[in-house]
Amino acid sequence: MGIDTSTGSVNSDWNHEQNGLDWEGTCATGRRQTPIRLSLDSSLIMPLPRIFFGNYDVRLNRPLTLINKGYTVDMSIPETRNGQKPFITGGLLKGQYVAEGVHFHWGSPNSRGAEHLINNRRYDIEMHIVHRNTRYSDVSEALNHPDGIAVLGIMFKIVNTPDRIYPGLRKIYSELPNLVEYKAEAEIPGSITLGQLLGDLNTRDFYTYKGSLTTPDCQEAVTWTVFSQPIPIAYSDAAKFWNILDSNGNPIENNYRILQPRNNRPVFYRTTKDFGSYYG
Ligand SMILES: [Zn+2]
Repeated sequence: MGIDTSTGSVNSDWNHEQNGLDWEGTCATGRRQTPIRLSLDSSLIMPLPRIFFGNYDVRLNRPLTLINKGYTVDMSIPETRNGQKPFITGGLLKGQYVAEGVHFHWGSPNSRGAEHLINNRRYDIEMHIVHRNTRYSDVSEALNHPDGIAVLGIMFKIVNTPDRIYPGLRKIYSELPNLVEYKAEAEIPGSITLGQLLGDLNTRDFYTYKGSLTTPDCQEAVTWTVFSQPIPIAYSDAAKFWNILDSNGNPIENNYRILQPRNNRPVFYRTTKDFGSYYG
């Protein structure tokens, strides 16, 4: 995840050419780095609370602006029309985390680009919705605390004919051709809800664990919640990500970080499958 959502700054001191292998010195080191492999076999199946989405169904009070940051496309999340930000709680989270930004990690015409692996599968694209613990005043402050940030990870899988419609995502895809140039900006017309980025995704089944940012400075401040069900995306829409250019005019490809050691961290899996209906 890139975290400069709240500051609008563009960090050009690093890139994804070696998928993070050359970030020594700019990236924190520790025992809870991200991304990692996620699998049913190596997870603790737990009756955790589901993720509760607050204000995800209320329209945002201004149009979203997508920005080409040179290593991803990113957008800041404003308040909704009721004056509050969308927020999440539940899962492993204690307290409320308000939405700050959304960005994407993708591959290339020849490779898949999600950051987490699920059951040894790398999906095509991974969307990150970044949230800040309301105990902290802003993202920079939150990054100093192990419970500062919560990120939702959503996988996208290329399919021939997506059988479901995601109105929020469709609006983003249609603006991607306007974001090809470095620092380009594009406004999504009209007003959407953050929930329109999730559509009917099954948010009740997820992996969750304590990790880090996946871009410098790689702070170990993130509680990750990664949904196990992917969202379908048409090849023609995925291909729009591969055309986006960095500050040197080269396509941004494979902007994911290589897998990090798990170091015996517990990974929890919440599922509604096969485990009765007592917490579904
Ligand atoms: Zn990310």
